[in-house]
This record gives sequence, structure tokens and C-alpha cells, in this order.
Amino acid sequence: MYNKFGIDERLEKIAEEVELEIADICKKIDKVAEENQLKVLASFQKYKISDAHFAGSSGYGYGDIGRDAIEAVFSETFGCEDALVRSQFVSGTHAINVMLWGVLRPNDNLLYITGKPYDTLEKVIGIADEVGSLKEFGVNYLQVDLLQNGDFDLEKIKETLTTKKVKALVIQRSRGYSLRPSMKVEKIGQVIKYIKEIDSNVICMVDNCYGEFVETIEPTNVGADLMVGSLIKNAGGGIAPTGAYIAGKKHLVEMCANRLTSPGVGKECGATLGVNKSILQGFFLAPVVTSQARKGAIFEAAFLKRLGFNVSPDYNEDRSDIIQAIIFGDKDKLIAFCQGIQAASPIDSHVLPQPWDMPGYTSEVIMAAGAFNQGSSIELSADAPIREPYALYLQGGLTYFHVKYAMLKATQNMINKGFYSLE
Ligand SMILES: *Cc1c(COP(=O)(O)O)cnc(C)c1O
Repeated sequence: MYNKFGIDERLEKIAEEVELEIADICKKIDKVAEENQLKVLASFQKYKISDAHFAGSSGYGYGDIGRDAIEAVFSETFGCEDALVRSQFVSGTHAINVMLWGVLRPNDNLLYITGKPYDTLEKVIGIADEVGSLKEFGVNYLQVDLLQNGDFDLEKIKETLTTKKVKALVIQRSRGYSLRPSMKVEKIGQVIKYIKEIDSNVICMVDNCYGEFVETIEPTNVGADLMVGSLIKNAGGGIAPTGAYIAGKKHLVEMCANRLTSPGVGKECGATLGVNKSILQGFFLAPVVTSQARKGAIFEAAFLKRLGFNVSPDYNEDRSDIIQAIIFGDKDKLIAFCQGIQAASPIDSHVLPQPWDMPGYTSEVIMAAGAFNQGSSIELSADAPIREPYALYLQGGLTYFHVKYAMLKATQNMINKGFYSLE
């Protein structure tokens, strides 16, 4: 079948063998998806979602029952008090920015306990200079790195919390653009318990991007005060056209809402135009779509490892996000593979991605993103900062079969360009 697409038969055969190898893991992923599907369904039923909720509001957006219902469904599913689910969030970075500005005040200490945050947050926090960063407003940034084995550094966390008054801390669940492991939700729960025993007032926030529905529990189920994620990643199910959410304790969500809109307006305003149905439908599909992306990531790891590439995590390693890294150690190989992924896309398969200075990022980035929603990374996409060790981060896939084909196509592209040989 793949012959017609110019794929070497040997690659197809290897793919079939790899699929046998990963079958058990894929079955477990289906079980997680099933449990999450029922959880989401129950939330829809509890709030009696109906046609009326699909209608959008305009102008100020007062009394938008669809918007309120969406926020109730998210809160219910995530087991928390309240949520802010808005298309006015332009990205995950924006939602994290709003969360930080919502909660922090001048002279507060902000602590990251999963090492350096995701690239785009460096300018938000002021780790990298930028006009209007938190640093400019007197918010001080502290960081505790993860231990060599990827665990939390409990001693350093304790030392920081006992020597400095920390207002809020962030745990980044996903690996982001780094090679450390993702954080299991259970582990996030344990560290939050540990932190609250040292100082019960510290606000514990989780950057949940790429994490939703990978497990059957979310950080808000295990003590996180706030968590945040993007709707063009897992929680949007590939259908939500834009937006993000912040979920957690009611009074903290209110502080964030006052920052997103304005003090005194909070959650009451925000026209939904026509997006309610897409957000609801996307959230309904999200557990299964996330499982497709996850199975795709397992296939990527097993298939590419089998071909001799350096992958992280390994296919049989425990994970809590949908990101798969492949370390090429070489710029040209990385670019050829990435261009192969783009060529396998349903959208823009004819364009050739090139490295560029993407706004918000500190190094040049190459991205393969042949997506229905621009930049959507619950759809199959590949990003790589152009720097050592030339690691490509793959994520997403609305269907497993598309991911499988893309792996074959990208490898074939490398073979055709002389960067890889099957002999
Ligand atoms: C994607 C991501 C972000 C930022 O989201 P954008 O929508 O790309 O701005 C932040 N943190 C993590 C861990 C992410 O994966």
C-alpha cells in the first residue's frame, strides 16, 4: 500500500514489526482514553449541554450561557472549582502569562521547580530581557533544577521555601523543548503535598500543556491550585480553533479573569462569536484524539529507535505528555526529516519548512505544521530549536495512521537525500 507513496517496502515491513512490539502499550493507552471519554461525557450530561449552548454572543458577551457551560464542563472534568476557557487567550503562553500576572504582585518571589521553563516564558518572566516582563514589575524569579534522574530536588525546594518567602511556584508537566522526562501526575501530587507541609500558603500552579488526558487524573485532582493549557493542544481535540484555559481554585481563577479582561469585569464578559460548539466538540473528542497522538508517539519512538536513531523517551518509558524527541546531532539531517513530516501533512504538504526567528523564541526554530488550525500541535507537528543537540520534538496526530505514514515518509525523505541508508 505504501509503495504508491514512494515508500521502500523494507520500511513498511519494519513498521509492521514495530506495531506488534508496541501493541500492548497501545492497548493500555486505549484504556486510559476510554476512562477519560466517560469522564468528559459525564460532565456534558451533568450540565445538560444542548443546542442552545452552541449559540455565540457578540459585543461584551454578557450572559453567554454556552461560555458558562463550557467552563463548568472543564471544571467538572478536571475536578476543580472553576475554569476560565476563552478564545481570547491567543496561545498557551498568553494563558500562562495571565496566570502569572493574575497571581503575582511586585516584590513577590516566583519559583519554578522543574528547571528552566518553556522557551516562550523566558521573556514573560524576564529571564530573557523584554519590555513588560514580570521582572520589570519587580517580580523576582527563582529556579530549582530537576535532579539528574528527572526527579524533583526535594532538598533544594525545601531550602528555597524556608529561606525565601515564595508566593507561587510552577511545575511544568511536559518536557517542552528539553530532554528531561515528563512529570507523572502522581509525582506532581506528591511534591505539592510536600510543599504544602513546608508552607501551606504557596500557590502551586501547573503548566499542563500537552498533558491533558494522557493519564486518568490531572494535576487539579492531586492538589494543584491552578493549571493551564492550550486549546490547540490536547484539550481542544483538534477542533477548537484557538484559545486556552486556566482551571483551579475559584478565587485564583477570578484573579486570572480580572487580568485577562479587567478588574470588576472578570469572567462576566468575552464574546464567544461562533466558537462554543467547536470548543465543546473538541473537548468531547480530546480523550481519543490525545490517545491517537500518544500511540503515534510510541510508534515514532519504537520505529526510529529500530532504525538506529537516538530517541527520548524510549517507547516503553512511562510518560505524561505527548512529546517525542529524536536527537539527530546534525542540522541537515534534522531539517530533511522535518521537511518529510511536512510533506506528509494533509495541509500545506507542498511547502518546505525552513528555520526562522519565530517571535517569542530565543533560538531559530524550524517547524513542520501542516495543520487545519495554524500552529496546532495536537495535529501532527514537529519543532526544533536550531541548536545542539539538534533534537526534533514531535507531537500530535489527529489519527495514528497519519503519524505512521509521516514517519515512513520522513525517513524515506532522508534516504532519498542521502542522509540515511537501510543497508
Ligand atoms: C506549548 C507550550 C507552552 C506555550 O504554549 P503556546 O501555545 O505555544 O504559546 C508552554 N509550556 C509548555 C510546556 C508547552 O508545551
